[in-house]
Amino acid sequence: MELPGYNPYQYAQVLFNGPIPNGHVVRHKCDCNYKDNTGWNVCVNPAHLETGTCADNSNDSVIRNRSPHGTKNGRNKLSEEQVKTIYSDTRSQAKVASEYGVNQTLVSAIKIGKLWSRVTGHIDNSIRARKGKPRFDPDSLFEY
Ligand SMILES: [Zn+2]
Repeated sequence: MELPGYNPYQYAQVLFNGPIPNGHVVRHKCDCNYKDNTGWNVCVNPAHLETGTCADNSNDSVIRNRSPHGTKNGRNKLSEEQVKTIYSDTRSQAKVASEYGVNQTLVSAIKIGKLWSRVTGHIDNSIRARKGKPRFDPDSLFEY
């Protein structure tokens, strides 16, 4: 099954639960401790997944600012428009991160296609490569 541009939990959704309606994203109903290094929930248990509009995406709420200096401890939600702007911003990642009040790791993840690939259309090659050999254990985790 060829599903270009899908991340592992989108893939799990389509594989086990059915297609993602136009304009919908895959959301997590769970608060599993399967997080990548930016705090993104990457749980792929199909029973924990549902589709919904992007505005409801619970992943937004788990993106945390982890500034090592502790100057900004709030969490920031990014809109799709902001993600697109960040993705195309040619200034340094540190500058972009501080402007949006997010972690530079998050900016980096957007720019290399690790996060928000559905918005930017850019998906990390290592993630793309993994799609060729998905694991079918619903409880397994596609680790980034
Ligand atoms: Zn889960």
